[in-house]
Amino acid sequence: NYQIGRFHPVFIGEVFHGRYVVIQKLGYGNFSTVWLAKDFKMNIFVALKIQRSAPQSQEAALDEIEILQAIQRKSRNINIVKLLNVFVHKGLFGNHYVLIFEILGQNLLELIRNCDNDGLNLDQCKSIIKQILIALDFLHRECGIVHTDLKPENILLCLTTEQIKDIVEKGQIKQRQYFSEQLNKYYKQSKSDKKKEKRKRQKEKKKLQSIKYKLQQIDSNKRIFQVKIADFGNACWVNHHMSEVIQTQKYRAPEVILGQYYGTSADIWSLACIAFELVTGDSLFETEFEDYDTHLMQIQEILGPFPIEFSSVGTYCRQYFKYDGQLRNVKVKHYCSLQQLLVKKYQMENYEAAQFADFLQPMLNVFSYKRSTASQMLKHPWISKQQFKFHYFFEMPILDNEHEDNSESENENLDGASF
Ligand code: ADP
Ligand code: MG
Repeated sequence: NYQIGRFHPVFIGEVFHGRYVVIQKLGYGNFSTVWLAKDFKMNIFVALKIQRSAPQSQEAALDEIEILQAIQRKSRNINIVKLLNVFVHKGLFGNHYVLIFEILGQNLLELIRNCDNDGLNLDQCKSIIKQILIALDFLHRECGIVHTDLKPENILLCLTTEQIKDIVEKGQIKQRQYFSEQLNKYYKQSKSDKKKEKRKRQKEKKKLQSIKYKLQQIDSNKRIFQVKIADFGNACWVNHHMSEVIQTQKYRAPEVILGQYYGTSADIWSLACIAFELVTGDSLFETEFEDYDTHLMQIQEILGPFPIEFSSVGTYCRQYFKYDGQLRNVKVKHYCSLQQLLVKKYQMENYEAAQFADFLQPMLNVFSYKRSTASQMLKHPWISKQQFKFHYFFEMPILDNEHEDNSESENENLDGASF
């Protein structure tokens, strides 16, 4: 796999740039592998991201470096991953750009999964979303940069010094285990030796388990996490796009699906999807790969029918919409406002659901130019502690066939909702 993708085949203990020694693997993406390393010059632990060596990967790496360096020059935004160094490494499969970052922890997807898919507690969610908004406000307004791939995998938790120590220790135990297993393969051992080895391994296993438990505890504790946006591998400038198709499908803004112009507000749409996922543990939109008909249908199910001025614009609009504004290949079966969804499916209290829906709604405006900006969203009472006042009242349309389904008792449940 390393050879096919022209990834650099890293070995544990390998030294880069005469100062970074690899300890263990941290993660990987489509374009890179990421490793925990010790910087012996500064005596700190860092994340070492090794880009693939294919020519287009090298070009993409250069764009990523340019954008990261522009961000670092502007200011030291605390909610964006810090780039520490860049160099080229000559490997078996060619030249690889290597980016050295501060070391961060789990990504939000792992965090959501660790919470048994139940979502985090509301205060944690609010704090995380606020931090992402602060970072986006800086990226959009001060740097003129669109991240274009905002999703839980690309938002990472910050680590305390204690946690870094734990991870390093865990990596070293793993290494020891690996080497002792290798040794076992080649040398016959006396019975007593074997017993000793077994005891040692059990001890190490226990230690590993306790570290895992400790990490889980830290993660599931009620403490508020600090997060940073990472992975600028697809980022672009407001006035200079690298690609017309951006974002991972689930988080893709409707203007991108239709092939209209996009800007910084595309990130805001993704953020609304992330916020929903953090709070509920479920994706807001979930469709089969490249099934945009269903995707556009799902968006309308919660936002209401698209205005014709939206559905009749964009390179691909006729692929999905008829001239009357109806979807060409699928039919919207029912409408369910965000607030209704939060109450019915996720058993949120009416008032809480109304507040959260009121927060999400302005980020999910299908018209990208009407979508609230990060700085506007930072003032929203759901995260700013301002006194709450509802901003968005709207009527969801009811389809003919829904009149019969809506029993009295269901309507009663929604008393006090904002529609
Ligand atoms: P790609 O551009 O290939 O998607 P990313 O920058 O998203 O690469 O990194 C891939 C994965 O590596 C991330 O999802 C994360 O798990 C891990 N990772 C990236 N940067 C760091 C970091 N600074 N500290 C710790 N882990 C990281
Ligand atoms: Mg990534």
